[in-house]
Amino acid sequence: MTPRFLIIGSGFSGSVLANRLIKNLDCTVDMWDERSHAGGNCHTERDVQTGIMVHQYGPHIFNTDRKEIWEYVNSFGTFNNYVHQVKALSKGRIYPMPVNLFTINQFFNKTFSPQEAKAYLGSIADKTIANPANFEEQALKFIGKELYHAFFYGYTKKQWGCEPNALPASILKRIPVRFNYDDNYHSNVYTGIPIDGYSAIMQKMIADARISITLNKKFIPGMDTGNYTHVFYTGPLDAYFEYSYGRLGYRTVSFEKHYAEGDFQGLSQMNYCDETIPYTRVVEHKHFTPWEQHDKTIYFKEYSCETGPKDIPYYPKRLHADKMMLQQYRLYAEKMQSVSFLGRLATYRYMDMHHVIGEALDFADRFSNCLKSNQPLPVFSNTEIF
Ligand code: UDP
Repeated sequence: MTPRFLIIGSGFSGSVLANRLIKNLDCTVDMWDERSHAGGNCHTERDVQTGIMVHQYGPHIFNTDRKEIWEYVNSFGTFNNYVHQVKALSKGRIYPMPVNLFTINQFFNKTFSPQEAKAYLGSIADKTIANPANFEEQALKFIGKELYHAFFYGYTKKQWGCEPNALPASILKRIPVRFNYDDNYHSNVYTGIPIDGYSAIMQKMIADARISITLNKKFIPGMDTGNYTHVFYTGPLDAYFEYSYGRLGYRTVSFEKHYAEGDFQGLSQMNYCDETIPYTRVVEHKHFTPWEQHDKTIYFKEYSCETGPKDIPYYPKRLHADKMMLQQYRLYAEKMQSVSFLGRLATYRYMDMHHVIGEALDFADRFSNCLKSNQPLPVFSNTEIF
């Protein structure tokens, strides 16, 4: 009998999985999404008032080092060569972010060469920290306390709602420190934004008669899905189990929408590093599509808050207690045979788009091979959980 699959969630995880399953197997796929649109948090839509393509759930810049992932996404639409150049406001002055030679020279009022800047940061960095155990130690070891307090302490406290020494060092490792004038926010080989937005890319991924999508359809735990060969769940792991071990910690983001004439801030993203300013960043979407002309502009102030039961979970906090709870949920899930879990929410990780896409492709291949060879089906898309 032809396998019939159900995928809960139509973000990149669900869309890539559907696309790959129909390539690998003679099957049909139903997708459900509880929202009124497909695409999950990568959904893009033109703003009615301005005509500007808006990343509805915050800025998404595609970047990867993996050629096969870049070619895969480009097979569904054209990406432009947008380079993300961010500025950060700290104590009334504007600097380039990530920290680079220009940031260092501006901040310390110097004219350092790359070697001089490296030696200077080496001299002010905390040499007592051998293996940074948390975000704060990672910063103090590599950039010293002045730059840490100017650019990271306040922003991170607002973003994560806790002291940076309670957070893993891996969060800071996302951002480079450079001793040249390269101010590209990302260090990857391939970077860009799809000309027609991310939703158009995902629509193409699932544009096949064997895939059908139902919007405004919420998966309720315990629902009878017995007429499907297998279910793939990409929603929050704790919700699948009705929070039986408690709620995994997430930060949510509240977006305050504003309109203005012309150009509001001159670039797509301005970070606000001072603790006294309640929002973390201001994102002006017209700058993601510089090839388009728009008289008006739309921008959003982003406020980070603790996630309540009705909020959308964005950033997994992954504090110690969360990781213990995650382990319990995973053990529970491993006992089931008819459901697999993949993606940012179902694996409770801070993932970028290229990471999500790569993992969904690998998972679909692994799953297809197991199904064809009658092997036990994989439950999670990742094995390393911490
Ligand atoms: N961060 C910061 N100051 C900045 C930018 C980032 O302190 O100006 C910290 C903050 O803790 C943030 C982390 O670095 O959560 C990772 O930043 P990234 O820009 O990768 O976050 P995202 O774009 O995923 O929100």
